[in-house]
Amino acid sequence: RELPGDTRTGGPVRQVLHACYSKVSPSVSVKEPELVAWSQPVADILDLDPNEFKRADFPLLFTGVSLLKGSLPYAQCYGGHQFGVWAGQLGDGRAITLGEVLNNQGERWELQLKGAGKTPYSRTADGLAVLRSSVREFLCSEAMHHLGIPTTRALCLVTTGEGVLRDMFYDGNVKMEPGAVVCRVAPSFIRFGTFQIHAARDKDDVPLVKQLADYTIHYHYPQFEHLPFDRQALDEGLSEASKGDKENPLPPIDISKNKYAAWFTEVAVQTAITIAKWQAVGFTHGVMNTDNMSILGLTIDYGPFGFLDAFDPKYTPNTTDLPGRRYGFANQPDIGLWNVMQLANTLYTAELITAEEAQFGLGRYADKFMADYQQHMSSKVGLKQYNKDLLSKLLNNMAFDKVDYTNFFRSLGNLKVVPGGSDDELLAPLKNALLDLSKERKTVWLDWVHDYFELLAAEGVPQPERKAQMDSVNPKYVLRNYLCQSAIDQAEQGDFSEVQRLLKLMERPYDDQPGMEKYARLPPAWAYRPGVCMLSCSS
Ligand code: AMP
Ligand code: MG
Ligand code: MG
Repeated sequence: RELPGDTRTGGPVRQVLHACYSKVSPSVSVKEPELVAWSQPVADILDLDPNEFKRADFPLLFTGVSLLKGSLPYAQCYGGHQFGVWAGQLGDGRAITLGEVLNNQGERWELQLKGAGKTPYSRTADGLAVLRSSVREFLCSEAMHHLGIPTTRALCLVTTGEGVLRDMFYDGNVKMEPGAVVCRVAPSFIRFGTFQIHAARDKDDVPLVKQLADYTIHYHYPQFEHLPFDRQALDEGLSEASKGDKENPLPPIDISKNKYAAWFTEVAVQTAITIAKWQAVGFTHGVMNTDNMSILGLTIDYGPFGFLDAFDPKYTPNTTDLPGRRYGFANQPDIGLWNVMQLANTLYTAELITAEEAQFGLGRYADKFMADYQQHMSSKVGLKQYNKDLLSKLLNNMAFDKVDYTNFFRSLGNLKVVPGGSDDELLAPLKNALLDLSKERKTVWLDWVHDYFELLAAEGVPQPERKAQMDSVNPKYVLRNYLCQSAIDQAEQGDFSEVQRLLKLMERPYDDQPGMEKYARLPPAWAYRPGVCMLSCSS
């Protein structure tokens, strides 16, 4: 069925009704496709012998030109709220699932090609991906995993050898760019929007919400499949505040009676866990539409993401989001909650959960986020006890002086009391992060450092021990946009070594890696040109 008025492209949308997916064959055309890089840790998950990557037909298999044995490729149907507005059917417009690998541990891993050609969900777009955005997705998936953040993974990146037309800045300047295909890997790519689409359609589609929930619970949340289940597991991590008090009692419900309510609560909690980690590491997703929210709480769909350089709570890497900064860094926790609420609405519409149960799950999101965030931020400054005043003063100072987020926290572990030392000696370990301070600003920072020392002294952890703990949570290396861009520039010239180097480097982001210091440097001036620090949604 053709409907007018797609919000993004203005073109007609072919509606796929009463279905969660469509069978589709990859159709990208290739000319001498080349393997750019692959992730050994992901190959290990899939029990894939490293020699497989040397096969002459490997690039054909992982662009989808040749099909893997047993593969029945399909594209998912989903909808979503884009920038807060219901956008109707979206779906995998350029992602095609090849199938699932059951590994030796009995784990199920879905293999999905991104950029392998049109699907019934491509609308007026081409179903392709350019090397530039594919390098970014490939590297960031792996970098996030090694930072300890739940994410979809990436097995490999292959160039197609064919060109793809792109209008990078929507200014009418169309450019031919090299095409590429990333093989993404995750237990599932089901999104909030995969549920939403069916509740948003006519009555006939609504039962699909339950069917999909049953499927998701069976394969991905088996702990909720059979009643009664262990309520205690759900209460793990429940903060004191969330247990309610006399003034704010929680609704007296027992969600262990309804498996959908318990499952929804767990999805909310998993989402909160991931977003708290984003905030701690300074990651901005850039496009937190509900179609980009994984039902497993994984970071999914790497588009115009960015790690914070100079601390700015309003930072967004997404040019499409510039007027409202809906998806700016500091907004992410609230947007996560808003998105979880849209999922709750869907489950409520399908009569799987009650309003009270929805409320309960949302409350758990807020509690879990706060508890985790406070814990992460405390360990970033090497304190056991959360101190709101100290941390908010710190973030204010960092914003005022545009302090590099990653380098500041990494340096902070080196701070120590210098008996009889001058102010300059005290601040010396932070000199790489606190640049060109005026006299007044130096005083402000010294005040903060003295408050900080008092709290450290009260906890009494020796500096070397504190530094070791802090280094294990404050990465030395993050995938800054300018690093990606250097790797992209070289890859576009046919040199893939920088992509491979970054991939290796980002496998150990918390380790000091001798000889690699330059990768921890501040962005050079050229990094602030459009297309490096700022990107649009669709590339
Ligand atoms: P995103 O903003 O990247 O999450 O994408 C939103 C929607 O646009 C999803 O349904 C994508 O599959 C679709 N999409 C993005 N780029 C393309 C493309 N080049 N071809 C087809 N569909 C696309
Ligand atoms: Mg998406
Ligand atoms: Mg995308």
